[in-house]
Amino acid sequence: MNTSDYRYFLSDCKKVISEGNIIKSDNYNRDIILSEIFRNKEYIKKITANIRNKFINNIADNLVAFDKNFSSNGGIINWCIDYNDFLSKFEKVLSKHKIKNINIFNSYFVKELGIEKFIENRDYSFDNETKDCIVFTPQFGIVNTGSLFLNFNSAYDMELVLNGRVKIFILSLCDFLFKPEEIEIFSYLDSIYKYGLSFPYLTSLYTPNPAKEEENVYLFLIDNGRSNVLENKDIRSSLTCINCDACKSVCPVFNVIGDAPYNNVFSGPLANVILPFIENTENYKHLCFSCTSCGNCSAVCPVKIPISEMITSNKKYFFENKLM
Ligand code: SF4
Repeated sequence: MNTSDYRYFLSDCKKVISEGNIIKSDNYNRDIILSEIFRNKEYIKKITANIRNKFINNIADNLVAFDKNFSSNGGIINWCIDYNDFLSKFEKVLSKHKIKNINIFNSYFVKELGIEKFIENRDYSFDNETKDCIVFTPQFGIVNTGSLFLNFNSAYDMELVLNGRVKIFILSLCDFLFKPEEIEIFSYLDSIYKYGLSFPYLTSLYTPNPAKEEENVYLFLIDNGRSNVLENKDIRSSLTCINCDACKSVCPVFNVIGDAPYNNVFSGPLANVILPFIENTENYKHLCFSCTSCGNCSAVCPVKIPISEMITSNKKYFFENKLM
């Protein structure tokens, strides 16, 4: 634990606490909203956990099936090992289509890949009104149909994305469902858990259509450390996360220290589990001590990820492997 990152983490935590900053926490009563929509909320969580685990536990075959279906619809898939690999392939696509202005729709994944910084340092401009080239993060890929499930903030965004001349989609290897019928339940969970809303957001199921001569549809499928998590069977199911952020809102530690001490796009209970594997063990192993083991995160998770237990298993793993 004697790493500089650990010291920085601690001093940043102390700074936040001494400044008395109040971390904005959403306190939606998810259980009440969930019960209004679904008769048996525990059964719903079980179904969603099963779907996501079924995908992750056979991820290689499922991704190959998706690749085949997406490609036969006319889309072009680029597999990327990490953000450097992604940025070099991304730049080739931009130069092939002589792109000057890019419309980037912000997301966690856009931040994780450092796309905005990359664009700033090159000869491209941001343009949030252009349809010439759009960069968008789907919520899920759909294996059986080779489609993408898209979630929009407004009808205007939807118009821009669906009519983009060059459409560039970026997706993590883990964010998939099997069939369109599964979308509805996840749409509801997303709006309930993320925004405290009882109705799903504006969404679209997008399938490239070769008959419409849409030959400029790219999908970048990016690992960026996920396969390191896959290799560890004790925490593998952390990859079933649907990024709802509910675990952050119920975490007594996160509600005091917030994002800042993490200095990373990932923060909160799930970050405590995955960052030592997605980034590196040495600089992030101390995060397993940023937990009171209260179990709130495991209890709230809509896909039943045992986050708190995984943090404990990380401690055991680091200790047994003499990493701590
Ligand atoms: S771990 Fe569970 S509660 Fe936390 S963001 Fe992911 S899906 Fe939501």
